[in-house]
Amino acid sequence: MGEKTRPAEELKEAHRVLASFEFEPGGVNRGYTDRALYVNLSENRIESKSIPKEVKDRFTGGRGYGLWYLWQAVSRDTKWNDPENEIIMCTGPICGITQYAGSGKTHVVSLSPETGSVNDNNCGGYFAPFLKFSGWDLLEIQGKAEKDVIILIDGNKGKVTIEQAPYEAVDTYLLVEQLTEIYADDEKDNRNISVVSSGTGAQNTRLGMLNISWYDTQRKRVRVKQAARGGTGTIFRDKKIKAIVIKYKGVKSDSNKVANMDLVMKAGRRINKEILALDHSQSRMRETGTLYLIDHMQNHDCLPVCNFKYGSHPDIFKVGTKVWQEKLTQQEPYDSCWMGCAMRCSHGVDNFELKTGPLKGQKVLVDGPEYETVAGLAGNLGIFDPYFVLEAHFYCDNYGLDAVGLSTSIAFLMECYETGIVSKEMTQGLELNFGNAGAALELIHQMSRGEGFGKIAGQGVHACKQLFVQKYDAEPKFLQDIGMGCKGMEFSEYVTKESLAQQGGYGLANKGPHHDEAWLISMDQIKNQIPTFDDKAEALYYFPLFRTWFSLVGLCKLPWNDIEPADNQEIYQGMEAAKVPEHVQNYCWLFEGVTGKPLTLEGLILQSEVAHNFQRLFNLKMGYGTSKYDTIPYRAMGPVTKEEYESRKERYDKQLKEIVGLDIEGKSTEEKMEALRPYREEQYQKLCDVVYKRRGWDTNGVPALETVKRLKIDFPDVLKLLREYRGGEK
Ligand code: SF4
Repeated sequence: MGEKTRPAEELKEAHRVLASFEFEPGGVNRGYTDRALYVNLSENRIESKSIPKEVKDRFTGGRGYGLWYLWQAVSRDTKWNDPENEIIMCTGPICGITQYAGSGKTHVVSLSPETGSVNDNNCGGYFAPFLKFSGWDLLEIQGKAEKDVIILIDGNKGKVTIEQAPYEAVDTYLLVEQLTEIYADDEKDNRNISVVSSGTGAQNTRLGMLNISWYDTQRKRVRVKQAARGGTGTIFRDKKIKAIVIKYKGVKSDSNKVANMDLVMKAGRRINKEILALDHSQSRMRETGTLYLIDHMQNHDCLPVCNFKYGSHPDIFKVGTKVWQEKLTQQEPYDSCWMGCAMRCSHGVDNFELKTGPLKGQKVLVDGPEYETVAGLAGNLGIFDPYFVLEAHFYCDNYGLDAVGLSTSIAFLMECYETGIVSKEMTQGLELNFGNAGAALELIHQMSRGEGFGKIAGQGVHACKQLFVQKYDAEPKFLQDIGMGCKGMEFSEYVTKESLAQQGGYGLANKGPHHDEAWLISMDQIKNQIPTFDDKAEALYYFPLFRTWFSLVGLCKLPWNDIEPADNQEIYQGMEAAKVPEHVQNYCWLFEGVTGKPLTLEGLILQSEVAHNFQRLFNLKMGYGTSKYDTIPYRAMGPVTKEEYESRKERYDKQLKEIVGLDIEGKSTEEKMEALRPYREEQYQKLCDVVYKRRGWDTNGVPALETVKRLKIDFPDVLKLLREYRGGEK
């Protein structure tokens, strides 16, 4: 608490500059600066690197650049906490334009503490646009500092410093306010600061995330969005980075120095008109953000309840969309996480009084929550209380904890507690039953302190499973069935039992089970538009690639399909309608408008295919990337327990009779479950096989040589990797 009372001048005076570097600011041309800022914290070294044309042509920008530079930086033996692992903060050519909704995303690439392989995140806030306008397409951070440091980039003065910063808070809520005050010249200048931060939860768990800020001039508060999945915040704190601060003044409508402003404006006018006219009658993102999905998922039995056992619950109305519509502060212009986003879906709850933890009694601004936060914390933990959700969500952000990974992990531990795998002795007195809000909050606080059972819980599902088997003799098969993780990362918050395509969307995603690559529940389960294996494979070819593209160019994907033209469903049917062709055309216009290079849909998919396949090969390089790592827990495919089967008895009985051809007369639930399982597992395997083929991968899920050559990623070390793979395990 002592830290909070120090005035800004005193905090700043205590800084010790370890390294300083001057550069020529600006230099953006047609969306690119063609320079990377390299910072080495072990050596206190700061450098400018020019980005070769071949890298630009091959990897487009954003995540593509991140993958390429991380590949160069690490070897197959590099672990997440080795100094050579990097945190790469990427922009992308379209990033920073203010004419089109959703154009300010930062994309972050690193080796994950959860998966041991390459991870990517995307995040709102002003960091990436400021980074680019300062003069950098990406920021590459390597090495580890000895003591807590801040990296400061002054984009107007052209100066970067690494500064030891001993007295600022570590946790985000206070830290971002302190740093904004320290580095802004005056109150008006607050809007020119963006801070990347994390927290104590990140340093004491593997579930660390990054917060990226922008200043809300209406509320006069610093707001944050999250780069959440895969533990990037844990690396940030392991490198002893307290914060990255960027200062940039002078954003203009043409800061990107675009090639054809008319084309950019044409796309922008079209999407903005649509959002203003139709959002209220479609997803209502401007009113509730992604929370409109709560009721929708509940109605379709896809909302995760009690560790993904069920897809709905009678008490969901207590945390339903209507509740949030009342709680969220409505229609705030600064609910855009980058300038000019007409979708402005980054809502918040003002003046929420905290009941627990180090900030107990304070009235705070809680950002969001998003659909995933409510689905995970309320649904999956069985705690249908909006006040609990707000308290837990606030502390997740403050401590730098990924609310999705955390809620899936706690849900798993609650089931382990209720089934006797985890005892009260192990939890040191916490009664971790579903629905116990007090225990869940205490566990979150323990994670931030690195104490008690929080120390174990914070390692995530994968590590907990291993520990319970090795140390407590738990049955591995049951844990594998109910532990909702894949590739080391926890599932995000959708029940996939009735959507085979979404099972693939999770299991086949490069970084782990996240719907960032594919969200096919609506097309597959709700609308039945992709009934055959070939249809599903086509969807699992197209959509992950299309979605990857947003991360190459620096865009948010929400304005792609959370709004659609009024006649989209009349002109197009099925999967074509789901592509929202008019918006795809907008994106082609945007790319051409900014870079001057014409782009077709085929060209767009090709750009993504390069990055997507390279990321799959990166997984192979790190010792993963084959079909066995695409295995998902059985709970993602079907009922693991008797209660789960019986909750959907009619549906499963019907499938057994009509599809499997089983005479169920006189059969017990256990017998029926036993008959259903091989059928569902076989379906998943069949799906993987057709998807691998459609993607140009071999039967073991590795990009085939022809694919690698076609995509022109047949670099010598990639060919060497493939030769070694072919000589080894198949
Ligand atoms: S759509 Fe929402 S999340 Fe995306 S950029 Fe706009 S405000 Fe941010």
